[in-house]
Amino acid sequence: MSRIAYVNGRYVPHRLARVHVEDRGFQFADAVYEVIALRHGAFIDEDRHLARLTRSRGEVRLAAPMSDAALKLVIRETVRRNQVRDGIVYLQVTRGAAPRDFAFPLAAKPSLVVTARSQRIADPRLVERGIAVITLPDQRWKRPDIKSVALLPNVLAKQQAKEAAAYEAWQVDGDGNVTEGTSSNAWIVNDAGEVITRQADTGILNGVTRLGLFDIIARAGLRLVERPFSVAEALGAREALLTSATNGVLPVVRIDGQPVGEGRPGPLALAFASAYRAFMEGLE
Ligand code: PMP
Repeated sequence: MSRIAYVNGRYVPHRLARVHVEDRGFQFADAVYEVIALRHGAFIDEDRHLARLTRSRGEVRLAAPMSDAALKLVIRETVRRNQVRDGIVYLQVTRGAAPRDFAFPLAAKPSLVVTARSQRIADPRLVERGIAVITLPDQRWKRPDIKSVALLPNVLAKQQAKEAAAYEAWQVDGDGNVTEGTSSNAWIVNDAGEVITRQADTGILNGVTRLGLFDIIARAGLRLVERPFSVAEALGAREALLTSATNGVLPVVRIDGQPVGEGRPGPLALAFASAYRAFMEGLE
């Protein structure tokens, strides 16, 4: 089956999908995006993702390319044309094409690109095995709460993780505290049984899966603590985990080559992963 992309009002073959060379997304990363997972044909937390897109746009003063209702129709049509049941939808809004100049163009219309592809969501094999992370300095700008396409630091960090045979890189701020992964939020469980993740201020992206796990933690009657934690605290933690739309919940079993706990997926991480899977499959 050939893939189809939505680009500024048209559904086009994916291999022919183009924006202009002076599109500001290409020139300046003057653009924001979202990734929404689909499981058995159902969107996971679509409204939270669209609300975050609106917030990201607002923070960088980027106009809406269309209403949310229209955007939902485009998303559904893109998914339908690509026959995606398990996979992701990618949405990108840029400030449009205009002669290159840092200041906002007066006349440009925002560009909207929507693509969809099949891929494994929340891979159970990764849950069973757990994953390794490395840590490195957080080199991003000071507003990673905005889901901007300016992802070069994330690209470089993920590549370093890959070269170290790790699945993710946890970025560390100037105080030695973990901010988040390159494309996931970071969590630990301490000996008191507290589930700890950094507070969603301007220093991290407020993950939609993070919020989904908040709901699960509340229902389980566990104690959630939103605060920074250091690499040393993570290394001494009972468990560690990460969350993202494409991964769901994954146990972290090694940090910088050192085992977390017993070096196996922890019981809470496993319970969270299966509760999140149940939520995705609408079984709750
Ligand atoms: N942090 C960053 C930097 C990310 O790119 C992502 C992935 N969007 C996340 C966290 C996790 O967010 P979500 O659960 O909404 O996928």
